[in-house]
Amino acid sequence: MKTGDPIVDRLVDLIAKMPGIGRKTAQRLAFFILAQPEPYALDLSESIRQLKENLRTCPQCFNFCHQELCSVCSQTSRDTGLMCVIEDAMSLNQIERTGHYRGYYHVLQGALSPIHGIGPKELRIQELLARLKTMPVQEVILATNPTLEGEATAMYLAELLGESGVKLSRIGTGIPMGGSLDYVDEITMTKALDNRRTL
Ligand SMILES: [Zn+2]
Repeated sequence: MKTGDPIVDRLVDLIAKMPGIGRKTAQRLAFFILAQPEPYALDLSESIRQLKENLRTCPQCFNFCHQELCSVCSQTSRDTGLMCVIEDAMSLNQIERTGHYRGYYHVLQGALSPIHGIGPKELRIQELLARLKTMPVQEVILATNPTLEGEATAMYLAELLGESGVKLSRIGTGIPMGGSLDYVDEITMTKALDNRRTL
């Protein structure tokens, strides 16, 4: 489905790479941008440029940040006894939005997926182990997504940390299987955290 205009088609191709966006939606979005006043389109492209130029990865938790440490790691008032392990920064935002969790996070930057060539070395697992050695963490909450990959990752970590003496828990019911934390509302997310079970 091409429009015949190379400039429009290039934008459609780029938008269609985004998750959950088919070519038809990509074309609708491209035409929407085309119909907006010029400042909107320039603002959009500038904000995407800034996103790549000014955002970096937090050296502690691997959340994104634009200062030395991310907005969570720079808070000294948080509970150093709690560590929540998640797949991506979007899950971190979801949990933060509940206002219910006071510990720290560790972003794995993905989940184990042998068919996609993602093994333990591709994730921030070594960095997690190093942090657990230096922080007085009492409980690690495995909050990877309730998908096959997320479950496999949680199980892998549970085994890896099994003998470390730290309490391990997995987020509880409320989140549909096969789902992603990224699209869960605040109440469901709060319940999932409350209902976490010890592993
Ligand atoms: Zn951080």
